[in-house]
Amino acid sequence: MLERIVPSGELLFGSAHHFTQDRAGALKAGTLNIRIKDFVTWINDEAATKDLTGQSIPDDPHGPINTSRFRRTLAWHIARRPGGLVALAIQYGHMRTVLDARTSSGYGTRSRGGIHTVLDVESALAAADTAARLRDLLAAGERISGPAAQRALTAAAHVPRFEGRIVPRTFVHKARDYLARDGIVLFDNPDALLICAFKRDNALCEPDPGANSPRQYDCRSGCANTVRTDTHARLLRARADELGRLADRLPPPVGRRLRSNADRLRVAADTHDSSAQTAEAPR
Ligand code: SF4
Repeated sequence: MLERIVPSGELLFGSAHHFTQDRAGALKAGTLNIRIKDFVTWINDEAATKDLTGQSIPDDPHGPINTSRFRRTLAWHIARRPGGLVALAIQYGHMRTVLDARTSSGYGTRSRGGIHTVLDVESALAAADTAARLRDLLAAGERISGPAAQRALTAAAHVPRFEGRIVPRTFVHKARDYLARDGIVLFDNPDALLICAFKRDNALCEPDPGANSPRQYDCRSGCANTVRTDTHARLLRARADELGRLADRLPPPVGRRLRSNADRLRVAADTHDSSAQTAEAPR
């Protein structure tokens, strides 16, 4: 919705496009909190008017809904949608680099005990989910390929179960320990259609020296941390076909570029098909 409301290239929550007296910068936290309150009131009025009582928003026992309570939502986007299609994910996907610098940025320094903690927790949960999904795919007979396949198999075989989604304070240490296992933490990268078995020294996306996660939005082909499954190969071909169809409708120079991208994706899929092995096969 915000992408449609706000002109391309401008802040999604820019004051200029959200009917405030300020004409520059982003909406302030106080304004956003009032907007959230008004939005809840509007939903409840609509629900009452249309007799949709099941869709009203009840009072929250923890107090009003305000921006500080969305930290985990932001962390979810940062951890799970690197460079995703949603503008929020794109903005905060890049934001991760700033946050991972941890000591160098003003935001990082100021919020060290806040967003970093939540981000570590959400990243660990996302990485564990990725490893668990890979384990299930392998158990169902999918094959795996890529220079980091062996490390991914190790990660999938030792994935812990983080039951539920209520995160006690003590979980933060667990999450940090989990992420610190350089080389066997798996990051799903749905945009690049691969799993990244992140090992800092191998990473072509040039993460910061102390980073515990890759810069997924800058994923580069040929990286030694790459892992693919049969599902990725199928999706690579589907995306290549989609690009081909799009190329047919576009002017020749753009079309040529898309076709060459499509060829690159098919080569990656062929490479998988010719080198993939099952989890049981000797390596
Ligand atoms: S370049 Fe390598 S380390 Fe970086 S996201 Fe891609 S696969 Fe992972």
